Amino acid sequence: MIIADLLKNTKKTLFSFELLPPLKGKDISAIYDAIDPLLEFEPSYINVTYHREEVVYKKRPDGLLEEKSVRKRPGTVGISAAIMHKYNVEVVPHILCSGFTKEETEDALIDLNFLGIHNILVLRGDPDKATKTFNPTPGGHKYASELIQQIADMNKGKYLDDEIQYPTPTSFSIGVAGYPEKHPESPNFETDIKVLKHKIAAGAKYIVTQMFFDNNHYFRFVEKCRNEGINVPIIPGIKPISLKSHINTLPRSFYVDMPIALSIEVEKCKNNEEAKQIGIEWTTQQAKELKSYGVPSIHFYTMDRSDNIAQIAKAVY
Ligand code: FAD
Repeated sequence: MIIADLLKNTKKTLFSFELLPPLKGKDISAIYDAIDPLLEFEPSYINVTYHREEVVYKKRPDGLLEEKSVRKRPGTVGISAAIMHKYNVEVVPHILCSGFTKEETEDALIDLNFLGIHNILVLRGDPDKATKTFNPTPGGHKYASELIQQIADMNKGKYLDDEIQYPTPTSFSIGVAGYPEKHPESPNFETDIKVLKHKIAAGAKYIVTQMFFDNNHYFRFVEKCRNEGINVPIIPGIKPISLKSHINTLPRSFYVDMPIALSIEVEKCKNNEEAKQIGIEWTTQQAKELKSYGVPSIHFYTMDRSDNIAQIAKAVY
């Protein structure tokens, strides 16, 4: 099933969510435990994030620090296939520029193609955690639009090695990220929307937004996109607060605004359990309003916690 087609033709608001691969060395059962409570809401698709390597410092026996590169959450391709086969549900692995050469990406895409996974979300990837800057991997891509071009070429049977005889075209359908509050590195909103339009022109068929806590950001973003001639489905991505600390950490990590009314309510909470309840109530209201606005789907960022998402879905769907 091609998700872009599903989004274009749906008469109701679909339900989908995003999961993170477990930390290296952990069992896949945590993923299944996150999915199980959400199955009754019939997710149309499940996204699985991808993670670049990180630099860590390990203490050597002589006391000096050794720099090491570690991918803390590997397994996106395998987890996507495992979910698809266990639950017979569509999966959307994320594919990144950061941390990968073009050849490595091509190989990952060939694996996905063989596994029968044809929906992907194409992203540049986060900057390096230590330096907070994005430097393309040597032999890799700088922008998501370049990676989309590589995949669009594969869809035409054009692989990196142009000496392959009778290459088989792939049939990937591509989604991309959009930012209702602007991407933090963009000089202004107008430039950001132009870049987004470029990603659509390169072959992306739908947009999933960064999380936002005030629906007005989403409504304004959709209006700007439509005025700029971007006509593909724009899926709102939302996340319920589940910890008291989220009121500070989410704006810091994702460059999003926390509405004053929400932060006041969370600050009053005595513990995380109370904060989680506020998060459920806030996101339920957001989702109900988005649904009545007629969005084709609501995409939930779970961060592998699904009991709160299940409560929201029960109230909304
Ligand atoms: P791009 O579209 O390439 O844009 C990056 C920046 O470059 C923007 O400021 C843009 O305006 C600018 N730009 C783009 N093209 C050009 C150009 N041609 N010329 C000049 N400027 C340009 N990160 C992960 O590491 N793993 C994930 O699994 C993951 N999943 C995500 C899912 C969603 C729905 C979202 C919203 C984000 C996700 N991210 C993930 C985070 C994402 O990788 C970062 O936000 C990253 O900083 C930007 O990715 P992008 O694909 O939007 O980049």
